[in-house]
Amino acid sequence: MAAYDAIIIGTGQAGPALARRIAGSGMQVAIVERGRFGGTCINTGCTPTKTLVASAYAAHVARRGADYGFSAGDVKVDMKRVKARKDHVVGLSNHGVERSLKHLENCRVFEAHARFVSPREVQAGSEVLTSDRIFLNVGARAAAPNIPGLERVDYLTNRSMMDIDFLPRHLLVLGGSYIGLEFGQMYRRFGSEVSVVELGPRLVSREDEDVSAAITDILAREGITVLTAAKCLGVDKEGNDIVIKVDCGGISELRGSHLLIATGRRPNTDDLGLDRAGVRQDERGYIVVDDELRTSVPGIWALGDCNGKGAFTHTSWNDYEIVAANLFDGERRRVSDRIPAHALYIDPPLGRVGMTEADVRKSGRPALIGKLAMEDVSRAFEKGETEGFMKILVDAETKEILGASFLGTGGDEAIHCVLDTMYAKAPYTLLERAMHIHPTVSEFVPTMLEDLVPLAGSVAG
Ligand SMILES: Cc1cc2nc3c(=O)[nH]c(=O)nc-3n(C[C@H](O)[C@H](O)[C@H](O)COP(=O)(O)OP(=O)(O)OC[C@H]3O[C@@H](n4cnc5c(N)ncnc54)[C@H](O)[C@@H]3O)c2cc1C
Repeated sequence: MAAYDAIIIGTGQAGPALARRIAGSGMQVAIVERGRFGGTCINTGCTPTKTLVASAYAAHVARRGADYGFSAGDVKVDMKRVKARKDHVVGLSNHGVERSLKHLENCRVFEAHARFVSPREVQAGSEVLTSDRIFLNVGARAAAPNIPGLERVDYLTNRSMMDIDFLPRHLLVLGGSYIGLEFGQMYRRFGSEVSVVELGPRLVSREDEDVSAAITDILAREGITVLTAAKCLGVDKEGNDIVIKVDCGGISELRGSHLLIATGRRPNTDDLGLDRAGVRQDERGYIVVDDELRTSVPGIWALGDCNGKGAFTHTSWNDYEIVAANLFDGERRRVSDRIPAHALYIDPPLGRVGMTEADVRKSGRPALIGKLAMEDVSRAFEKGETEGFMKILVDAETKEILGASFLGTGGDEAIHCVLDTMYAKAPYTLLERAMHIHPTVSEFVPTMLEDLVPLAGSVAG
């Protein structure tokens, strides 16, 4: 049995950084990876999808040549080259993580499935490793819903979508949230017919209703069929077609060539032997952690998607920072200190921070709202990309910024001026008076703040 100062399971966003930190301080680290180095973000999540989104965007702009004064002729997407570009970008990151770990002094890499034998012992392939400090960074994977017939259909997930080097004739997307919509729009732009089926009453239901409505319009204008409040009765294969039987406003079936399931994720905790270590999970399999990411067993931490405290690369990275700061820098950082923030990378993108309008109403705070159509943002109309809007919510009494949604060109970047003001705990009036650069999307944030009105349905409204 080999003893280490730390064992890390998984090389997603938190694991490698933690390995570098621990090994860098002279301690002996074992890191175990059963799949591809770099985990979801690098191999089957953010990096490949955003690389594909970039190809889809370029094809979209080329088709809009007439709007800009040029002609690119008949735009045909070569999916083999699109995939090769994606593979190249992914390869750089994936090999980078692998190389850096394998060359890291004081670190031993095990390419194996890891499983607890006891609270202090982990089986990695044929070896048993032991340590007083074990860090779990095992991530999550696509979850398939319980739909009759699905087991008979060769459906796709975010993982198998990565192998596609051809154009699906008609891509059916089950799930109208972040992952489903990014794939849906990109494949429409590559040239596929696309239909999105969402069981809930609207797309991306975690966002406000006006955001969902604007996103639905954007996708519909590109020729994507969107069904919401669709009851999915079953899935079947008929010849070369996949058929989704639905109950949705008079529509009884949707027929396509390929089916992408994007209905949620589940943590990779079912085959980790957590019961042998006594580590508590919740009813959905997420590892229960406290505000400093400690599990129910002293000496075992859980970071990233597997702890259910976030489902983003930046939340996993932030988990690493919290654990490292608390263990090695004598700090007391907590998960609850962070401000929720994420983006949806359809085009135009959505950047989101803090509370939604619905959250604010529910909170009972007196609130003000500012809203601005991207049509009124000079940077947007100069670029010919005027879809979407920005909105911001502030506390009417404390002047604290409560949240913002920027759906529009550059929205994923511009939102950071709001996020940083929130971290600084500065009143919105600070941002109102800041001089921003012209012409940018960000310069309209102060403008928007000049015209705040009471939020209807809030105490101030
Ligand atoms: C299609 C898609 C697009 C996304 N886009 C974005 C985005 O734009 N921005 C964003 O912030 N987030 C995005 N995400 C989410 C983001 O990818 C994840 O939140 C992030 O990768 C989670 O990282 P992690 O550190 O928790 O673990 P992961 O990156 O999931 O890594 C876990 C690793 O652990 C390994 N492992 C699991 N079990 C074991 C075991 N028993 N033994 C050994 N190894 C094991 C796995 O093989 C894997 O390599 C996207 C996700 C998907 C699916």
